[in-house]
Amino acid sequence: MLIPNMNYSHLKDSYLFYNIAQKVKAYLEEHPDAHIYRLGIGDVSLPLCDAVIKGLHQAAEDQADAATFNGYMPECGAPFLRTAVGDYYRGRGVQVADDEVFISSGASDELGDILDLFDRVNRSLIIEPAYPAYVDANIMGGREIVHLPSSRENGFLPLPDESTEAELIYLCSPNNPTGAVFSREQLKKWVDFANAHGSVIIFDAAYEAFIEDESLPHSIFEIEGARTCAIEICSLSKTAGFTGTRLGYTVIPKELERCGMKLNDMWIRCRTTKTNGVSYVIQRAALEVFTPEGQKQIHANIDIYKNNARTLMKALDELGIWYTGGKNAPYIWLRCPNNMGSWEFFDFLLNEAQIVGTPGEGFGRCGEGYLRFSTFGSPSETEKAAERLVALLKK
Ligand code: PLP
Repeated sequence: MLIPNMNYSHLKDSYLFYNIAQKVKAYLEEHPDAHIYRLGIGDVSLPLCDAVIKGLHQAAEDQADAATFNGYMPECGAPFLRTAVGDYYRGRGVQVADDEVFISSGASDELGDILDLFDRVNRSLIIEPAYPAYVDANIMGGREIVHLPSSRENGFLPLPDESTEAELIYLCSPNNPTGAVFSREQLKKWVDFANAHGSVIIFDAAYEAFIEDESLPHSIFEIEGARTCAIEICSLSKTAGFTGTRLGYTVIPKELERCGMKLNDMWIRCRTTKTNGVSYVIQRAALEVFTPEGQKQIHANIDIYKNNARTLMKALDELGIWYTGGKNAPYIWLRCPNNMGSWEFFDFLLNEAQIVGTPGEGFGRCGEGYLRFSTFGSPSETEKAAERLVALLKK
């Protein structure tokens, strides 16, 4: 009899977003005229910028003409886009070669697929609270997970110490859900740890474009020594509104090898076997993100989300509520007032001000007592939500 991957039976059901939806539904059934202020969403609300739309139209025209038509694309990415991404890194002074850049359909795909490169015996260290996909992808692969809880005391940015043991290390900076960002000095500690122990860091940089503090690193490859111990996974989802359009990229340096195996070569082999590349149309549109005009336009959109963050941070400052994130990340992670639990505060906000956040407990046990606000909503809704929050908690 066929034996399925029994690791799937170890997955815990995620009730987080289901429970939120159920609670909002129940509230609306009782209060059909109520307006809900949604600060829980992880999706973007602004449309693609004009430059990307122009690229999409151009790509459609290209596909309509035999002279410019594209069939199968190279599995590791169109050369024009690999170069554009490489130039994006090099423009910030980070030396990345074009053939170290792999174009993907998004960060989620890569975060799961990349595990193909590593034997099952490796342990995966996951800092909690965490983006839930890290945990589930490792459970599916049957790997032991080393949970590293973080807290307000370390700013939700824990560092390795003598007791740290793991072969794979997930770092997400700027972080979802906490919005915390590792400094260069902190990242260097993880890089030194990984090089000393032969570990590999999987660096999730999905929110790098939200960093505004010049001193903070956008890429792990800004840190000396990272080329021998890190893989970086990035996405245009939040940077350029590609959540429904789908495009990401992964950087694997050629120096990165373990047991005589080069991970860049292994990933070429993996991609050429398991994918037929990302659609020409989407890659052509993504190219526009990396032009000067595209960069100007995507940053105009990011600024709208950043204004939302400023609106919410001002309200929290006025209320004296502790939080992290918001400045260099699209998420704000706040301490629930009056020692309320995550779900208790969630219910209180829903019932008393019709504001919906995401209970921190849903991202791991150490998230209990915290709530996440997303800044991806509309400015007018965010402003009204902030006013209601202040009015409610100042009472
Ligand atoms: N990594 C983090 C930390 C995220 O928050 C998300 C999406 O919310 C992703 C990866 C997935 O991005 P993509 O849409 O490119 O799959």
